[in-house]
Amino acid sequence: MGDKTKRYTIGIDIGGTKILLAVLDSRFQILSVVKMKTQTDQGARAFIKAIGKAAKSALRDAHVDRSDVLAAGAGCPGMIDPKSGIVRFSPNIPFLKNFPLAQKLSRELGCPVVVGNDVQTGMIGEHQFGAAKGYRNAVGIFLGTGVGGAIILNGELYRGASGSAGEVGHLLIDPEGPLCGCGNRGCLESLTGRTAIAAEAAILVARQRAPHLAAKAGTDIRAIKSGAMAKAIRQGDRALEELIRHKAQLVGHAMASLVNVLNPEIVVLGGGVMEAMGRIILREADRSMRQRALGPSAKNVKVAAAKLGDYSIVMGAAKRAKDQFGKS
Ligand SMILES: [Zn+2]
Repeated sequence: MGDKTKRYTIGIDIGGTKILLAVLDSRFQILSVVKMKTQTDQGARAFIKAIGKAAKSALRDAHVDRSDVLAAGAGCPGMIDPKSGIVRFSPNIPFLKNFPLAQKLSRELGCPVVVGNDVQTGMIGEHQFGAAKGYRNAVGIFLGTGVGGAIILNGELYRGASGSAGEVGHLLIDPEGPLCGCGNRGCLESLTGRTAIAAEAAILVARQRAPHLAAKAGTDIRAIKSGAMAKAIRQGDRALEELIRHKAQLVGHAMASLVNVLNPEIVVLGGGVMEAMGRIILREADRSMRQRALGPSAKNVKVAAAKLGDYSIVMGAAKRAKDQFGKS
């Protein structure tokens, strides 16, 4: 039941710390963007109201009337039922527990809303508009605070039996490895998420092997952000560069398994860690994957950096909204 006169969509990227909301035109060009902090301490009502306010201001910036908005899409971390738009559980936003997010947002924004998992939604963005455009089989690995992933099979997002397919962050790399947030040991995320990398970088600082990082961030793991590590490497912290290379090799091991199992045409690497240190990581992960993946699968697979950066989720979400509500 689409209305063809309504040309605009809203894309919302709900993160644990910030929310990005964009207004897009019929060709998915971004007309305006509003960024805000995620309010997690004032409950669900204030949270929904704040998104409504952001939408209002983004529509005003884009000179778009609310009545011309066809639909909105949102990407949210956690377990989400894609049909009902109910968030079963979201790790950093405690009140999103069995919460009908699509319905609440729809009431607030005055248009239909579709809600999906953030990483899966971002991968739809990269597949439709970014690095994986034109490929029928693609794997996305997103290296951020944690490690996320999503899979496109035969041109469509593969969700699996309960919607959670693509959790590459919890591929087992080392059974004796560090404890992971999921309760197991040695998952890819427990070894190559930013928190894990920062912890080992802090050890280098403490051992006086990373003087530039020491000057910038000290040994506080939370202060050791991707940008600070990238800068310290450019300034000459060789031990830190070696650490990042080693981490990229582990990502390459995981990629080899995925390439063997799924035989994709492309693997897309994205996320904040990747954006900050992409050149080192891409080359090292690619090499390490090719040393391990089986011949026929490894031969033709491409490895590429994500292209949409901060906008993959808002663009993917807007595309989903249009696909779901735009066809009459
Ligand atoms: Zn895990």
